[in-house]
Amino acid sequence: MEIEKENQIISNLLAEQILERYISSNKGKIALATSFSIEDQVLTDLVLKIDPNIKIFTLDTGRLYSETHQLIDRTNEHFDIKVDIYYPNNFALEKFVKEKGSNSFYESLENRKQCCDIRKIEPLKRALKGIDIWIAGLRKEQSLTRTNLKIIDKDLLNENLKLYPLLNWTEDEVWEYIKKNNIPYNPLYNKGFSSIGCAPCTRAVTVAGDIRSGRWWWENPETKECGLHLPKGVSNG
Ligand code: SF4
Repeated sequence: MEIEKENQIISNLLAEQILERYISSNKGKIALATSFSIEDQVLTDLVLKIDPNIKIFTLDTGRLYSETHQLIDRTNEHFDIKVDIYYPNNFALEKFVKEKGSNSFYESLENRKQCCDIRKIEPLKRALKGIDIWIAGLRKEQSLTRTNLKIIDKDLLNENLKLYPLLNWTEDEVWEYIKKNNIPYNPLYNKGFSSIGCAPCTRAVTVAGDIRSGRWWWENPETKECGLHLPKGVSNG
């Protein structure tokens, strides 16, 4: 696939049309990665309307909020699905925690990246086995690290393609879709959270206009990716 040309072709398509284009021609080889954000809830609704059997998976890092676990069950019930849940490798995690402690991610960027590697990156690799295209809910306005993303691009880390159908959506558009379609969402949004990840690494938004300011708030904005969606040229370390 010629990435530049493909992005030109799909640049004016609606999210539904973008998804239809890739889902229909990649059955069994395309999957939605959900973290149960409002964006991922919109995508869950959209992809299931195209293919009720599409693979939808999530990474349970073991440090998620209880509200997120409750939302997993509510989502399964709402859409009558069973989301695939991937957990960290227990041997790697036990070794890491034994050596560095439970909350070592606050101490250094290296520790934080190591924790994200064990709890997210390695399980993601397992989840993506046999998958050519993975869909995710990133939007440009979410952070500094996301402004140059393309709707479809090569995922250098996992050697497949990543698809961001909501890349140009605004937060208002996402909420409008959620409300209009009565889709369940994480109640933490009602408490000032705009981006919800692991409990010890997420808090309510602190900087007006910076949606991801509540994630890894003790780090520089340029480092605020866990490695799942690293922009080109940025290493996970
Ligand atoms: S977000 Fe925090 S707790 Fe979650 S995997 Fe990364 S460093 Fe670990």
